[in-house]
Amino acid sequence: MTRQSPKVAAAILHIALPVPVRRHFDYLTPHRQSEATLQVGMRVRVPFGRQKQCIGMIIGQSNTSLVSSDKLKPIAAVLDQQPLFDLEHLKLLRWASDYYHYPLGELIFSTLPGLLKQGKPAIRSTYTVWKLTARAHDEKNSLSARAFKQQRLVKLLAEAHSGLSEQQLNLVIDDWRAPLKTLITKGWVERNESTTEIPASGNSQTIQLNPEQHHAVEVIRNNPGMNNRFLLDGITGSGKTEVYLEAIRETLKQGNQAVILVPEIGLTPQLIARFQQRIHARMVVLHSGLSDGERLDAWIEARDGIANIILGTRSAIWTPLHKPGLFIIDEEHDASYKQQESFRYSARDIAILRANNAGVPVVLGSATPSLETLHSVNIERMQRIPLLQRAEKATIPEFRIVDMRGQKLTGALSEKLINGISKVLGENKQVLLYLNRRGYSPVLMCHSCGWIGKCNRCDIAYTVHKLDHTFICHHCGTGQKLPGHCPDCNDSNLVNIGYGTERLTEVLRDIFPTARILRIDRDSTRRKGTMEKYLDSIHAGEVDILVGTQMLSKGHHFPGITLVGIIDADQGLYSSDFRAAERMAQAIIQVSGRAGRANDAGTVMIQTHFPEHPLLTALVNHDYNTFARMLLEERKSTNLPPYSCLALLRAEAFEQKLPMVFLNQARALLSDNNSGIEVFGPFPAPVEKRSGKYRYQLLVQSNNRLILQKVLLDWSRKLDDLKEGKKIRWSLDVDPQEML
Ligand code: ADP
Ligand code: ZN
Ligand code: ZN
Repeated sequence: MTRQSPKVAAAILHIALPVPVRRHFDYLTPHRQSEATLQVGMRVRVPFGRQKQCIGMIIGQSNTSLVSSDKLKPIAAVLDQQPLFDLEHLKLLRWASDYYHYPLGELIFSTLPGLLKQGKPAIRSTYTVWKLTARAHDEKNSLSARAFKQQRLVKLLAEAHSGLSEQQLNLVIDDWRAPLKTLITKGWVERNESTTEIPASGNSQTIQLNPEQHHAVEVIRNNPGMNNRFLLDGITGSGKTEVYLEAIRETLKQGNQAVILVPEIGLTPQLIARFQQRIHARMVVLHSGLSDGERLDAWIEARDGIANIILGTRSAIWTPLHKPGLFIIDEEHDASYKQQESFRYSARDIAILRANNAGVPVVLGSATPSLETLHSVNIERMQRIPLLQRAEKATIPEFRIVDMRGQKLTGALSEKLINGISKVLGENKQVLLYLNRRGYSPVLMCHSCGWIGKCNRCDIAYTVHKLDHTFICHHCGTGQKLPGHCPDCNDSNLVNIGYGTERLTEVLRDIFPTARILRIDRDSTRRKGTMEKYLDSIHAGEVDILVGTQMLSKGHHFPGITLVGIIDADQGLYSSDFRAAERMAQAIIQVSGRAGRANDAGTVMIQTHFPEHPLLTALVNHDYNTFARMLLEERKSTNLPPYSCLALLRAEAFEQKLPMVFLNQARALLSDNNSGIEVFGPFPAPVEKRSGKYRYQLLVQSNNRLILQKVLLDWSRKLDDLKEGKKIRWSLDVDPQEML
């Protein structure tokens, strides 16, 4: 750690506890404890509530307390010999607590690894990892093709230079124990203890950067000081990852650490392998599949500077660092960077802040930058580095709008798209059809009486999952067996309305009976290793038509695909969510970017009932930047983000009236403190009922972030005191991304 925490010399300790209260708690230093050994950032155990003990953290000290001294209790135990992190990190957490109006104690503990939350010591554990031996590397080509499971295991181990642990294996492969045993017997695999040595992995092979990439790396390197926030703006395949790798290399050379954030579905084994192969460094990968021990180890290694590269999804941004040198956010437009429950932070914004605090560069990369980021470029708060030249396989397909109005449809497919698919299949190329709705159909209706199958906890229609014979609510996840007849009138004539990926696949089977069709969505890839298997077969040319959801939009490249069909572009054009159009365009471009090769960029056909919609025509006739400029104009004229700042107060309860009572009181609290802000609502949430709870919200808007922050600070404290607030669940979302 870079800075030492001050020794505690006072009698009263300020303790942050993981409880939903916006203040710290005072405790006395214990009699036997030498005060000198207590430091800010150490965990302690304290009596809290009725005989209960609670784990907290020392965040400050003083000689006096507002609580009378006879009521103060001493802390029960000190759990750390060293602070868990330095004051700089605590300052970051305090800032986040203030900005997001989320209680500091809860926030601190929500960002810690599970074992530290439980009070376990902050030391690295050891666990077993398996590695390929030199012998395996020599002999692996001799493995029989029929030893399929051994083949797969060898391939995975060969990609992981520092070996794979039990947890990592569980994540990517089923039934690995038997083949592993065989490989150990053969002398192909050996076991290691993970922390007995810390191997730096990778052979740091390099690639010759093209002039634009080279320039990008130079700009990032030569901009120390204030203006070192960059948008790396280049289409999929334009070589952004190569720029990251080179910039990271520079950072490592200076002895600093690099943090790379990727979207939730972007952290693929392929990406991890690519980093490991290309950079000779100690890298920790933070993902949801880690065991508690692995997570703690990674956290400590990042904090102590043992790890040079920290690669992870959203929550990795809270890892304390020894010497931060570079922050990278790949696919910065991705919605998964915003946490949507409890502590609602934006990892992208926190990364920018951390880079700023440390005076080091931050690079946001995307083919479809968010409007917030483009706005930052426009007002020169960020520097845009375009990658216009195509790296190896990069391509721009041709966009075509397919007017669906009055057209004869064969199950969601227009004649034009069907002809397009036929043509491509005739050429032995591949087709990708994008439909972001899994299941068979989103609505099931009784033809005789009009009954619709609804989730009564959420008041929305159940989605039909024909293959599983289930009827599932996509909002709360509950479900039941698919009914065979109408529960109201007993008629068995139930009709499906609308299309999901399952039904689209069925339609395609009818039209193209000999085509090999593969569906990729959360349902079809639930089993571990399935996704990898599917990707292999796509690349091997064993698939003709690929049907998929958003899952396909990141991290993959399918050079054999020359036609992309967007089944339904209309959802994004007329929506109550002001971000819908931006998201729609990003999805279309991201999906399109999966396809094509240098000499055959291919075609994207977009089915719509609004072929003249200016946003859609801007997207297909010009480019994403033109589209984004138009959308920014629209946001400006309607005074929506990034031209204003929002905060959303959400309230929900099983009893329908209570949230409204609370929100009306909340609104009244703002009436004498409302200069510079506007308040909208309360109004029902777009999903008004979910899991049995009624949901309403109040929107606060301001053109000035500081004014909004000041109002929220005062307001959140008053909200805590509202009696009505105790009867319901409520939360404050600063910079909300989803209005749901
Ligand atoms: P992006 O991250 O923008 O999608 P990548 O960095 O993944 O792009 O590059 C796409 C492909 O092009 C990769 O296979 C990569 O190895 C290759 N590539 C990138 N830059 C170069 C280069 N300068 N020379 C040769 N190949 C390159
Ligand atoms: Zn009926
Ligand atoms: Zn439901």
